[in-house]
Amino acid sequence: TMRESYASENDSGFKCLKPELRPIVVVGGHGQLGRLFCRLFELSGYQVRTLGSQDWDKADELLKDAGMVVVTVPIHLTEQVIRRLPKLPDDCILADLTSIKSGPVQTMLEAHQGPVVGLHPMFGPDISSLAKQVVVYCDGRNPESYQWLLEQIQIWGASLNRISAIEHDQGMTLIQALRHFTSFVYGVHLAEEDPRLDQLLSLSSPIYRLELAMVGRLFAQDGQLYADIIMSSPQNLAMIKRFHQRFGDAIAILENKDKAAFKQAFDQVESWFGDYAGRFLKESQSLLRQANDATHR
Ligand code: NAD
Repeated sequence: TMRESYASENDSGFKCLKPELRPIVVVGGHGQLGRLFCRLFELSGYQVRTLGSQDWDKADELLKDAGMVVVTVPIHLTEQVIRRLPKLPDDCILADLTSIKSGPVQTMLEAHQGPVVGLHPMFGPDISSLAKQVVVYCDGRNPESYQWLLEQIQIWGASLNRISAIEHDQGMTLIQALRHFTSFVYGVHLAEEDPRLDQLLSLSSPIYRLELAMVGRLFAQDGQLYADIIMSSPQNLAMIKRFHQRFGDAIAILENKDKAAFKQAFDQVESWFGDYAGRFLKESQSLLRQANDATHR
């Protein structure tokens, strides 16, 4: 299968685009995403060192000849960890993997005079390969000196998307903060209502099972990470409040049994989606067929 061939490609290693690079130091390298990136760098032939939370007494030693430093610590610690770095070699690349970008990129630019790049892998540590995954990046300084890194990430299978840190954070308000928050609330609601999950599933079509899986998977992960993501910026809260407002407006439609208003709002949204509505219907049909195959295997 595709997946197996990617897995075996991982085992046999990846082409190394910058063999002369001095050691890569991954700050937070024992963490979930840090471990994944350490493995990818090692499989590509780079020399990798980890600076964990207990290693700051050795930081000068670990960092003095670093060719690249990658910061991947919990979001709420990221900026203070960047500020705590000793002076890095001028040509050292300073990068991070944080799920928000404005604060960390700005802080990296202030903390280091050399090349800076912000990365946001749009996946969690549970993937088996980077194939078809997306890594978003924000240029910081001296992009010519880290083009090899962007190409290396592509060799691992991911595709890259360049964006400004501000636009990234605005997009993440919808893509992450609101979405994770609605899953969180749905989970809280389910837990309070306390239905029998096995019974719900036995009554469900694949689409509900998929929806439940999308919510349930959140709670198999780290609550701190999601608290950090959702609370990472005041614009997230403002967006969530607007959503809450619209939820209330929609409930008023129900209370008034106003089917005409419902239908009108429905049609407005349909025309907003435009061609995407039909495309999404088709796309979801094929996803559901796959999900159906997967659950019956
Ligand atoms: P994690 O908690 O698994 O790992 C964080 C690591 O940082 C831990 O090993 C921790 O011991 C270490 N650490 C804490 N304080 C430190 C310090 N002062 N010095 C050095 N190390 C320290 O978290 P994670 O899920 O791997 O997330 C790390 C980063 O990756 C976050 O910025 C997050 O936004 C980003 N990210 C995570 C995911 C995901 O799904 N997990 C996806 C995309 C981006």
